[in-house]
Amino acid sequence: MAAKILDGKTMSEELKSNIARRVAAMREKGVIPGLAVILAGDDPASEIYVRNKGKGCEEVGMFSRTIRMGADVSQEELEAEIQRLNEDPAIHGILVQLPLPGHLNEEAALSRILPEKDVDGFHLINAGRLMTGAEGVIPCTPKGVLHMIRATGEPLSGKEAVVIGRSNIVGKPMAMLLLRENCTVTVCHSRTRNLAEHTRRADILVAAVGKARFVTADMVKPGAIVIDVGINRVDGKVCGDVDFDAVRERAGWITPVPGGVGKMTIAMLLANTADAAERTLRHA
Ligand code: NDP
Repeated sequence: MAAKILDGKTMSEELKSNIARRVAAMREKGVIPGLAVILAGDDPASEIYVRNKGKGCEEVGMFSRTIRMGADVSQEELEAEIQRLNEDPAIHGILVQLPLPGHLNEEAALSRILPEKDVDGFHLINAGRLMTGAEGVIPCTPKGVLHMIRATGEPLSGKEAVVIGRSNIVGKPMAMLLLRENCTVTVCHSRTRNLAEHTRRADILVAAVGKARFVTADMVKPGAIVIDVGINRVDGKVCGDVDFDAVRERAGWITPVPGGVGKMTIAMLLANTADAAERTLRHA
C-alpha cells in the first residue's frame, strides 16, 4: 500500500492560522511582531527564500524588513547592522540569510544576534540549550520536521530514528530533538559505512543530504516514516533527497518535495518570531 502523505502545505496553513490569531492578539496590545532579514550578496536562491519569508510575515500580520547588503560588505558593517537590530524594539526576530559571501565569518555574525532575537536558533547559546534540554529557540527546519512526525500520531518513544546529515542547521538539531522524544538516534554522514544497513533499521528516517533521490526504496524499512528535507534542482525542477515514487510504495508515511518540509520551515520561522514578540510582552 502506498505511504500516507504528510502534507506540509496543509499543516503549515494550519500553523499560520494559529500564528495569525496570536499576532492579532498582540496587535491589540500595541505590539506588531517584526522580523528583520539581512541579505548579503545576490545569491538567487537566497533571494527567493527571503521573498518567501517576507510573504509569510505578511500573511500572518507581522511586519518584515529586508536589509540588503552588497556582496563586498565587511564583517564590521554586517555586525554593526546586527547590533542596530538588536537594539531596535520594533524588531523581535533577526535572521541572517545563509550562505554569506565567502569572505565573511558566519559563526561570528550569528553570535552577534541577541539569543532572544535569534529566530533561526543558530546562536551557540540556543544550540547549547537544545543540547542540554533547556528552553531556547529551536531551529526552524528540524522543528517543522518534528511537527510532521508527530502528525502521524505514532508514539515516538523507543523508536529507531536515523538522520542522514550532520549539519548544524538540520542534521544535528534534528538528532537532538528526536533524542528528546526518547528515540534511539543514529546520525549518518559521508563517512558512514554501510549506510543502507543503518537506514533499513529506521522507524523514522530523516534525509538531509542535499543529493537528489539519494534515498532509494531498498534503503527503507517497510512502514517507516520518511522525511525528506532535501531541496535539489534537477533539469530546472525541484526534487528532494528521497526517490519519492519508489519509496512511497514501501514507507508508511512520506513527505513530498515540494510541498513538504520547506513549507514547515517558514511556518516555524513565523512561530519563533511570534514567540519572541510574546516574550517581550511578558517582560514589558
Ligand atoms: P549540508 O551540505 O550542510 O550537509 C549535508 C550532510 O549530508 C553532511 O552532513 C554530509 O556529511 C552528508 N552527506 C553528504 N553525502 C553523503 C553521503 N554520500 N552519505 C551520507 N551522508 C552524506 O546540507 P544542509 O544540512 O544544510 O541541507 C541538507 C539538504 O536540505 C539540502 O538539500 C538543503 O538544500 C536542504 N535544506 C532544506 C531546508 C528546508 O526548509 N526544506 C532547510 C535547510 C536545508 P559530512 O558532514 O560528512 O560532509
